[in-house]
Amino acid sequence: MSNVLVLVDHAGGKVRKTTAELLTIARRLGEPVAVYIGDGVQDALPALGQYGATKVIALTNPDLTQFLVAPKAEALQQVAAKLEPTAILISSNAEGKEIAARLAVKLDSGLITDAVDVQAGDGAGGSPVTTQSVFAGNYTVQAKITHGTPIITVKPNAASPEAAETTPEVEEFDVSVSDAAKTARITDSKPREATGRPELTEAAIIVSGGRGTGGDFGPVEAFADSLGAAVGASRAAVDSGWYPHAYQVGQTGKTVSPQLYVAAGISGAIQHRAGMQTSKTIVAINKDEEAPIFELVDFGVVGDLHKVLPAATEEVTKRKS
Ligand code: FAD
Repeated sequence: MSNVLVLVDHAGGKVRKTTAELLTIARRLGEPVAVYIGDGVQDALPALGQYGATKVIALTNPDLTQFLVAPKAEALQQVAAKLEPTAILISSNAEGKEIAARLAVKLDSGLITDAVDVQAGDGAGGSPVTTQSVFAGNYTVQAKITHGTPIITVKPNAASPEAAETTPEVEEFDVSVSDAAKTARITDSKPREATGRPELTEAAIIVSGGRGTGGDFGPVEAFADSLGAAVGASRAAVDSGWYPHAYQVGQTGKTVSPQLYVAAGISGAIQHRAGMQTSKTIVAINKDEEAPIFELVDFGVVGDLHKVLPAATEEVTKRKS
């Protein structure tokens, strides 16, 4: 069976959910081979095996983690030359997209970014067919790469991770890094301040606040915490300086697809919808019954979020105790 490379997205050996999604997609296309960069591969093995990696290529050359992305692209080029994969899947985040672009140039291959679905193409080894959502979700585009090794970056929540339970073999792989790739050294890196809440793109429940909060995210955070949810924000809230940009949901923010998305004081502009419309269940709280968000929702509450959210928080807390 043909190899499909999946670049593992991890934090010190803790595999991110997006990698479980990529492995699930890779199984549709061929034999999933995980490429792990950095220390901690042993910590990652159970998660990689759980989602079907049959092999893990471990790259531990310290140059790969001491510099910005250029060495990683060189390393993947060398792995691809050896394994001759039929596709390479990478998470659609800022780093993943830069690696993918550099790799596409090196391999003289086509690149598709921000896929929201990837399916097997026609015939054995046929180029995968990707789906992209473009123009703020107004159009869906199906495409496939016709030149070189298909390189595809995939957005979070493009697939539900499906367990496969394999025991992957680990292969240490030596890569060389050119001096040209070692020009931007990482001098310091700090994890984002821990909030104790789930990561926005991985959360099963998200409670988001918009301009209707008037800048007070207290009720949004309290309701999120009662549900064990992540907090999101509309661009209006972020642009007003009420919440950090890292939490913005939408076209120019994060794309999310939780089981439950609660939009509080958010009108439902097309650019916000682009980031959350694939959520399984959508609930909106808005004091304007004509707000466009109500066209999208499964449940709507017409009311003042400063009253509705505390009442809902109280009810959830009461039911939990
Ligand atoms: P508003 O549209 O002002 O809506 C506020 C809502 O709160 C209203 O519906 C109002 O009825 C309600 N409300 C007010 N007070 C209360 C209350 N007390 N209780 C309950 N409800 C109340 N937006 C994004 O969100 N994400 C993006 O990534 C994004 N990218 C963009 C990219 C581009 C190129 C452009 C042009 C725009 C982008 N936008 C994005 C902005 C988008 O067009 C909207 O301006 C924005 O989403 C509006 O945010 P909002 O719904 O919080 O504010």
